[in-house]
Amino acid sequence: MPKIRASAVTRSFGRGPRTVAALGPLDLDVDPGEFVCVVGPSGCGKSTLLRIAAGLLRPSSGALELRTDATHPAAMIFQDYGIYDWKTVLANVRFGLDVQRAPRKEADARAAAWLAKLGLADFADAYPAALSGGMRQRVAIARALAVEPEILLMDEPFAALDAQLRTILQDELLALTQATSATTLFITHSLEEALVLGDRVLVMSARPGRVIAERRTPFARPRTGDVRSDPRFTALKDELWELLRGEVGRRAPDAGPAPASGEGAAA
Ligand code: ADP
Ligand code: MG
Repeated sequence: MPKIRASAVTRSFGRGPRTVAALGPLDLDVDPGEFVCVVGPSGCGKSTLLRIAAGLLRPSSGALELRTDATHPAAMIFQDYGIYDWKTVLANVRFGLDVQRAPRKEADARAAAWLAKLGLADFADAYPAALSGGMRQRVAIARALAVEPEILLMDEPFAALDAQLRTILQDELLALTQATSATTLFITHSLEEALVLGDRVLVMSARPGRVIAERRTPFARPRTGDVRSDPRFTALKDELWELLRGEVGRRAPDAGPAPASGEGAAA
């Protein structure tokens, strides 16, 4: 039984002649413990897919099912962090545990442990405004992982960070997810990121986004960021970029400016 199953999911926005077909039809199975990355051109429906998976949006047709239980629910991490500015760092990380009505002492201890793991122990009582972008994203990761989620849904979580920090957080996420049995659906516009992190990489077409290609990464687990210098990494990245490039060229007129170069990024 897959942990995540999408069956002919579609989503459109608006009505009548202004209807925008944003997504699908799309089928997807993610196995327990699997880390699946989805890449696709800007505006192809990636966030729409993730929001449907998170239950924030209903599909127009088809179905998307997550298999979780109440004590280990799905957790989300977004590009804009989604942390609360009026809560301390510790309270942000404790948030999901509070929602689950975990006893306060236990919740504080678990939140503090995750903060320590992500190098934020000294900032437990700080407010997010005092943190850098990278630290805020670490808070969001700690908050998501603190609930020991069975399913982790991430929408371009590192896109707003500079390249060095992105690399560091990718490596951290790799170590963290390999230490748990979480099932992960990870949206990115970076092929490199997808290849470092994923067991499988799915390439989406231009809007309405469908899966046009799928590759299994040949790197054993547990792996580290060293796979970036594996010759197979470069070969696979080039192969996927060829597929993606065609779709970026076919982008919808409302999808924003074209990318400046083909450095493995599609958005
Ligand atoms: P991506 O995350 O791949 O960049 P999105 O899923 O955000 O793409 O959007 C896919 C398409 O759906 C885009 O054309 C976008 O403008 C449209 N769209 C997304 N959300 C809405 C909405 N709430 N109302 C109208 N159109 C939307
Ligand atoms: Mg998006």
